[in-house]
Amino acid sequence: MAILLNDPKLSAISEKVRNGERLTIEDGLTLYNTPDLLSVAQLANEVNQQKNGDNVYFIENMYINPTNVCEASCSFCGFKRKPGEEGAYTMDSDELLRYVNERWNDNINEFHIVGGHNTDVPFDYYLDTIRTLKKNFPNTTVKAYTGAEIEFFARHAGLSMREVLEELIKAGLDTLPGGGAEILTERYRAKMSPDKASTDEWLEAHEIAHDLGLRTHATMLYGSIDTYEERLIHMDHFVSSKIKQTGLWYSFH
Ligand code: SF4
Repeated sequence: MAILLNDPKLSAISEKVRNGERLTIEDGLTLYNTPDLLSVAQLANEVNQQKNGDNVYFIENMYINPTNVCEASCSFCGFKRKPGEEGAYTMDSDELLRYVNERWNDNINEFHIVGGHNTDVPFDYYLDTIRTLKKNFPNTTVKAYTGAEIEFFARHAGLSMREVLEELIKAGLDTLPGGGAEILTERYRAKMSPDKASTDEWLEAHEIAHDLGLRTHATMLYGSIDTYEERLIHMDHFVSSKIKQTGLWYSFH
């Protein structure tokens, strides 16, 4: 069905969408700045129909944070605690299993695990969380540890990111979550998450994961100091890098 555009600046973009062509960062800025929101929605729907038809997929997962102790200090984080600080916790395997069993229902088909960058426990602690879940719930996918955590594990354990990922996969890792990406530009990261993986490190962790046969995710944490252009640069990484994401998730702050 032809789209009726109220903003003539969208004509060239509409043509590209019809032909299945990749949009540029400049096209993205035009879409962000147009007052013609209904046309943007129709164009987005056309792309969605081209890619997915009428298919919609969803899963029910259980979100687990094994520890909130963290060496980093991201500006947007109300979760982390310093070692010994009131409210700091690190679940051992019994506590992890109790946590899961208390919340389990048979529709859950994935564990989604992220947590603090805890220097008080060895890398084996993180491997053990995955081993414990895989042993007790062998049919449930384990989506665990962000690209930022992979970089932390490597630094903390004196391993390469490839070695870290190989060990995690041996323990039962199925896919990486998208967290830690926030906005993948250095201006944003220097202000919001200065102590954790850089843009290049986060992308490298995911590229290695793909190289080892995993498919992975990416989030976009937008709505704070990020500019429209930074949001577009963030999204563009997943086309211009070697990563073909299974899903791009958006978190609005
Ligand atoms: S790395 Fe994660 S847990 Fe640590 S401060 Fe940043 S957002 Fe919070």
